Amino acid sequence: MTEPGPGERECPSCGFAVPEDAEVCPYCAYEFPVRKASMTLSAWLFVGLMILFAVPLLAWLLGWFG
Ligand SMILES: [Zn+2]
Repeated sequence: MTEPGPGERECPSCGFAVPEDAEVCPYCAYEFPVRKASMTLSAWLFVGLMILFAVPLLAWLLGWFG
């Protein structure tokens, strides 16, 4: 039995400590559920950054061509 250390979590199927970012257990091939909340957060961060860059660019383009 291996205790999960920092950056690790215990596989609910076989009990081994696997890397926290592993999507599949390397010991028993158990598939960890994907954390959709963090995925959505990164997606929104990406959209926010795109808008942050796109709005001044659009304003510049409209000012240039208008
Ligand atoms: Zn496992």
